[in-house]
Amino acid sequence: MLYNLSFLAAILALARNAAADPSSTTTNPATPTAAPLLDLPPFSGTFSIAYPPSDKIPPTDTPQVQKWLAELDLTDVPDWPLVPFTEDGDPKNPKVIPEEACDWTETGCFNKDVTTCPLGVWGLTYDDGPTEFSPQLYDFLDKTEQKATLFYIGSNVVENWQAARRACGAGHHIAVHTWSHPPSTSLTNEQFIAEVKYTEMAIKEVCGFTTTYFRPPYGDIDNRIRSLLWKMGYTSVIWDYDTDDWMMAPGGQRTEAQVDQAFDQWIAAAPQDKAGHIILEHELYQNTVNAAIKNLPRVQATWKTMSVSACTNNSHPYQEKNITLATMDGAKTGIDLDNGNSSTPTTGAGGSQPTSSGQDQGKNSDEVKSAAFLSVGLLSKEVAALVVMSATIAIAVI
Ligand SMILES: [Zn+2]
Repeated sequence: MLYNLSFLAAILALARNAAADPSSTTTNPATPTAAPLLDLPPFSGTFSIAYPPSDKIPPTDTPQVQKWLAELDLTDVPDWPLVPFTEDGDPKNPKVIPEEACDWTETGCFNKDVTTCPLGVWGLTYDDGPTEFSPQLYDFLDKTEQKATLFYIGSNVVENWQAARRACGAGHHIAVHTWSHPPSTSLTNEQFIAEVKYTEMAIKEVCGFTTTYFRPPYGDIDNRIRSLLWKMGYTSVIWDYDTDDWMMAPGGQRTEAQVDQAFDQWIAAAPQDKAGHIILEHELYQNTVNAAIKNLPRVQATWKTMSVSACTNNSHPYQEKNITLATMDGAKTGIDLDNGNSSTPTTGAGGSQPTSSGQDQGKNSDEVKSAAFLSVGLLSKEVAALVVMSATIAIAVI
């Protein structure tokens, strides 16, 4: 079940660094094809901190990481040996993993993980983005009116922030997949926290909201990692159907036809389904995006397709509770600027204007929206109203 780590690392580097394939149809990531459903606060492209190097486990002795660690009480986190991994992607000595660890990759054990969607529903998830190929996938999802859960790599968010911002605005469910894609159980508590929090911070800077869902690279999770996730406010998501599409990398061992055959088998077995599914795919490079686009229409003809937050009816999958994402039971995507905990959010594009000011246009409009977007989810209605009022007065002065 585990991947070959060195091979996948090479794929990740290739996807991130390779020159654009001249045969590809990559579109401009800064040019969405559909109007955003969420009015995101402005982001200039300049990040507030120097993030750690891409694809490397962040150092934990920085003031930033020490600040995050100081906010968490780790005294009751299980103290188990770190699990070293071989070049082939397997634990070097599985016997060091205690049974009470509930390690999914070794024993298939779950503990409060989201593992599937309800019967008749297909949870769309794409890992390892955003990449230069992501806009093609997002175009297709826009065109076919589908939302997915996107498990982002923090390094990629910083490098491809335009694509990330587009997906955030489109109402996809954005989630964390670590900063540098290491096996979780090989990390110290401090390293794992840094991997999650730097990714969370990058997404927050680009999109303005704080993630609460996590998928472990390689599915590598145990109760120590879960304990750390819960302390950080995260829910873990696994999968039950795996396309193994990542193996279609150049020099890989899987063909597009084999991925298509996997979909053939799942669709043929659908009448016997006892539950829905959560599918593992990747927005990693051209082949995986091609395979996703090719197979999605027949999946849509067989199941209802949606994000993980939608199929689990979690209308507030971010810390900012004034943001709502659509769910199976009828919630609609939007930002509620009147009440951070309201069950009646505004809906869709154009439905989230924060002020009736006639000057609510252009850059100033963005500033007002930004103040309200960032504030309302965490402050009382009265305080939030003051923030909006203050911003409006500032515009009048300008
Ligand atoms: Zn991954």
